[in-house]
Amino acid sequence: MLGAARLATDLIPRANAIGFSPDICSYLTSDIGAYLAGITPMSKVDERIKGVPKPDVLVYNTNQCRDVQDWFFWYGRQFKVPVLGIHTYRGVGEVTDIHIEGIARQMKQLVRELEPIAGRKFDIDVLKETVRISRRCSDLWKEVLDTASHVPAPLTFFDGTILMGPAVVLRGDPRANTFYEHLLGELRARISGGVAAVDGEKFRLYWEGMPVWGKLRDNATLMMTLKTNVVASTYCNSWIFQAFDPEAPFESMAKAYTELFIVRNESEKEKYIDEMVRFFKVDGIIFHDAKTCPNNSNNRYGMPERYRREKNIPTLVINGDLNDLRCYSEEQAKTNIEAFIEQLA
Ligand code: SF4
Repeated sequence: MLGAARLATDLIPRANAIGFSPDICSYLTSDIGAYLAGITPMSKVDERIKGVPKPDVLVYNTNQCRDVQDWFFWYGRQFKVPVLGIHTYRGVGEVTDIHIEGIARQMKQLVRELEPIAGRKFDIDVLKETVRISRRCSDLWKEVLDTASHVPAPLTFFDGTILMGPAVVLRGDPRANTFYEHLLGELRARISGGVAAVDGEKFRLYWEGMPVWGKLRDNATLMMTLKTNVVASTYCNSWIFQAFDPEAPFESMAKAYTELFIVRNESEKEKYIDEMVRFFKVDGIIFHDAKTCPNNSNNRYGMPERYRREKNIPTLVINGDLNDLRCYSEEQAKTNIEAFIEQLA
């Protein structure tokens, strides 16, 4: 929200001033910056929300990166509350029972640590029901994104970054599922009515990496003028967890979070992108090299070159950031995107 509302760039220096490097996650630095400045974009939604509420406990998972851990430890020190976490595997090739058991055991250990804090016993049936609702949410979100395989596509990556909100923060709550059921109906109606998200869609692209949150509108408009639709992305797909199984909640959550793109090795990531390229019928891939997020920037070990040389799929790398607009040159990105699309013609 701080990024999309273009508040982040001004807030990041506040976190830098207390020792967080400008090179680390700009979600972290902008969020801590907002806390230090005593503001939150949530007060525009509800003015009673003044900032981050005081938690009883903080729970992190390192499967995105270590930044989340350090971020939560900072709040833990601020609020003087316990911080617990799950440490996941990285660079995973084949997902094995050893991975799944390792993560499932950590989750079970969390239950033991959280019970005294919550002051009540863990109820397996509540967890099973939550996993069931989450699985439905995940399936609906996948169906929503899959509608973009239709030519012309009824939605864009830029729409997806906003529409994914309920799958991110309300997964496990039936209201998210109701939202996606309505959305799916609308997208299917668009497909039957021949309504394209980009009028006169001529080219279809895949977006690999983080969005540039403060430039969603500009990038969407630029693509529209170029008759190009970014039809799919790794980022929006990150909220699809098809391994969830309410009958084996711990093991299936462990599997889902270990199968996730971000924790896989390069060849598993390529297999995944190959399938996306085929399914969404894309003409080229844009890799966003996000300065403060090496974890979600997959251009740094030769992948775009491999796609160009070995798979004959055009690729473009743009430099930028998710939240810190000082790292993004709009003119340069625009010129590069225009030239890239001209080559596709
Ligand atoms: S994966 Fe990237 S954007 Fe996400 S928390 Fe880690 S550094 Fe930040």
